[in-house]
Amino acid sequence: MKTSRLPFLAVVVITVSPSILLAQVDTKWKIHDLNRPVPPVIDPGSASTQDSPGHPPSDAVVLFDGTDLSKWQHQDGSPAKWKVENGYAEVVHKSGYIYTKQSFGDCQLHVEFREPTPPHGESQERGNSGVFLMGLYEVQVLDSYENKTYADGQASALYGQYPPLANAARPPGQWQWYDIVFHGPRFDAGGKLLRPARVTVFHNGVLVQDNVQLSGPTEHGERPPYKAHAEKLPLGLQDHGDPVRFRNIWIRELN
Ligand code: MG
Repeated sequence: MKTSRLPFLAVVVITVSPSILLAQVDTKWKIHDLNRPVPPVIDPGSASTQDSPGHPPSDAVVLFDGTDLSKWQHQDGSPAKWKVENGYAEVVHKSGYIYTKQSFGDCQLHVEFREPTPPHGESQERGNSGVFLMGLYEVQVLDSYENKTYADGQASALYGQYPPLANAARPPGQWQWYDIVFHGPRFDAGGKLLRPARVTVFHNGVLVQDNVQLSGPTEHGERPPYKAHAEKLPLGLQDHGDPVRFRNIWIRELN
């Protein structure tokens, strides 16, 4: 009888560790309990169109509303030098990545972008930018409309790790958007990884990354392991030299 306990224990260990991340039914409340607190009421905002950006949900932190980049800075703390005009911000070649002044961890993030038209360059040299969650984990921004490149580097790829499930890219010159759900990694006091980062991405409303588990920070040509970091870090947008435009950027922190 004793020998049968080992496999049982193994099953318990395997089923417990994902529960660190996944939500579970709270048994503190009875089913349909009228005393259970109801969620806060918010204004859900409105969807964007090609002609105009929508309105963020009322409980979102607006990071860029088309007027200025006051919520952003370069890595050295200097003011963001990207061009702002006509309701969008545009990457300025060699000005550098921009980062939010505020730090974020687990979040829902909405980012709209527009690829340069007419298109210029091939593969990774066409409309390249990126959304860097915690400044470390890149959701690739690229002109992937009729532009061949490696699968794990096209638009909405988790760069170098996961190609998107579909290529939902619009032609250059049209506004596109990412809706991202991100759960950052956790580390213990000694720096040991407790849970990896997980990412879900919708590209133009289409599910393209389904709760994928990152192997570590995203890099070009390598997959480095995690290095322990804080639970919140600035969000980054990449200067890859191409004049990609951004508008209507907002974030909702997840607790
Ligand atoms: Mg990029």
